[in-house]
Amino acid sequence: METRLTYVLSILFIIVGLSLLFGIRYYREKNKQIYNERIRFVKASSKKLSQILQLNSTYHFFHLENPRVLKYTCRSKAEYDHFDYKAFFQNDIANNLQAYLDLIEHAKRNLSLYAEYMNKWDQIMSTHSEQDRQLYLQYDYFRIMETNLCQDACQHPVTAILVIVEKHYSSPQGRNIYSEAQSFSHQETIDIVKSTIKRIEEKGERERTAAYQRQMVTPKLRYQVLKRDHYRCVICGAEQSDGVKLHVDHIKPVSKGGKTELSNLRTLCDRCNLGKGASYDPDGIN
Ligand SMILES: [Zn+2]
Repeated sequence: METRLTYVLSILFIIVGLSLLFGIRYYREKNKQIYNERIRFVKASSKKLSQILQLNSTYHFFHLENPRVLKYTCRSKAEYDHFDYKAFFQNDIANNLQAYLDLIEHAKRNLSLYAEYMNKWDQIMSTHSEQDRQLYLQYDYFRIMETNLCQDACQHPVTAILVIVEKHYSSPQGRNIYSEAQSFSHQETIDIVKSTIKRIEEKGERERTAAYQRQMVTPKLRYQVLKRDHYRCVICGAEQSDGVKLHVDHIKPVSKGGKTELSNLRTLCDRCNLGKGASYDPDGIN
């Protein structure tokens, strides 16, 4: 008698359980159907949504990579430890200057367009026509669904630059892996781009000056220097009859701001001149 009761109860339990399960499933499915139907209905009849889509088609924002990630793999732990994020970033800017100028310009353009766009978006969202009011009254879900759909359709362009510089290092056997990053904000990026442009310009200016100073060594000046130094190398004393060639050399190199004037010029033989390079020798005999 007892076993039979247990048996019946178990069967009953299973039946109740299964119907609950299917019931919930059915209920969920039904809800999903209702939801989808409502979405379709709101999409088809919302004037606001079609206005937003119309607005979208007239605003074209620049698609910007955000954040812009620069990666560097260090060759040693020491390099990793002493890695200079800013110097690495400056170098990337110097190599891709036009790309960075475009990036800044496009972010700026996006920002001003976005302000305009959002104004119009807000205006659309806050103006209710008679038809809108009717729909809101008739369908309690309409307004909230419409708002969600419009928010989903709203464009959010990149208006501020973010650059992330990552450094990586993994030890030879790959036992230790290191990784760190530093980010640069919109304003920091603009400042570094500006200072990089300035550096490039100054370098060009220095090079132009150096070329000019070299050109200033006229035959007449050359003769004056050679004569003053008695036609001998001021370092080793060699003269042309020793089989060397004599050069007129800038003591302080033009690349370092040395001027073309008698006090900064000296006679060197080709051997001594070669050994000197562009290094500044303040003890240079004059
Ligand atoms: Zn010499």
